[in-house]
Amino acid sequence: MHIHSLTLREIHLPLVTPFETSVDRVTERRIILAEVNVDGVSGWGECTAGENPFYSPEDTETCWHILKDYLWPMLKGRELISAACVWPLLEPVRGHNMAKATIETAIWDAEARLKNRPLWKLLGGERTEIPCGVSIGIKDSLDELAATVQRELASGYQRVKIKIKPGKDLEAVQRLRQDFPRVKLTVDANSAYRKDDWPLLKQLDGFYLMMIEQPLGWDDLFGHVEVQKNLQTPICLDECIHTYEHAEAAIALGACKIINIKLGRVGGHLQAKRIHDLCRRHEIPVWCGGMLESGIGRAQNIALSTLANFSLPGDVTASKRYWQEDIIDPEVTVTPHGTIHVPTTPGIGFTPRLDRIASLTARHTHLI
Ligand code: MG
Repeated sequence: MHIHSLTLREIHLPLVTPFETSVDRVTERRIILAEVNVDGVSGWGECTAGENPFYSPEDTETCWHILKDYLWPMLKGRELISAACVWPLLEPVRGHNMAKATIETAIWDAEARLKNRPLWKLLGGERTEIPCGVSIGIKDSLDELAATVQRELASGYQRVKIKIKPGKDLEAVQRLRQDFPRVKLTVDANSAYRKDDWPLLKQLDGFYLMMIEQPLGWDDLFGHVEVQKNLQTPICLDECIHTYEHAEAAIALGACKIINIKLGRVGGHLQAKRIHDLCRRHEIPVWCGGMLESGIGRAQNIALSTLANFSLPGDVTASKRYWQEDIIDPEVTVTPHGTIHVPTTPGIGFTPRLDRIASLTARHTHLI
């Protein structure tokens, strides 16, 4: 495979509803798309970095810079046997996993298209249908939260995750458990608590949640060991897991019982699969987290979620939950029983809508 050129585009896409977490409130996404030309075929990847460095140290600007000034020069003109060769070539750059994943996932898509195979099959996926949960942002009132959950359950979603932060936690969980006693419920704190908040976390233990996601600091592995030791509810790590070694340490130390794998956070498909395989060997279930992706990132997530140990419903949901109109054809839809049918066409299985992407593009650069 000859890596011929890279086109980076930054698109601006307004969300249908603002999304609030403990760290930010997002109304419009600034998303970098990578279109890589490999042997004359286009592969597409999406950068999952946020507009600011509040979820991870990377943001849209750092990714644009790293992709253009460091990663592309390491890949341009290369002859590769497979997209699996991309990660080792990028290793001289430390961190910047979201920038790396942007181009790595695009090359996987190109390879799958060149081989006329669905990407998920090339990755070794097994599922033809993936279970879906929803991630619900922090709401102004408990009534609004309950109404949102009601609506999502009526659409068929199999699991409800709510974002929490200090002051917007216990009452929300109490209310949802009262209204929806049997729903699979989880909470995600996005690192909003500290060890001193231990009594609150202990109280959450009484609501038979499926998991508590990332309660403590984004790099506080040791703190999570202490919390997990004293809670019945499984801890799921998200922000703490950037590498295979982080996952290895988290499992060995007992910092969690579940891991959320995000393509961008771990640097693309090769590393996501390594972490998936490690977790499988240790019987740690995984699921695929969302980063308010447009259709291209969503399609990449669907391919990843077909791997065998993605046994818990992830955050990958229908396009219409986020966008008035997506940038792929067809849009991602969810069945009435809360699943996504995995596409059977080559590559990511969805076609980027070039006209729509062009109309949303705020800047672009073509690199050869
Ligand atoms: Mg999370």
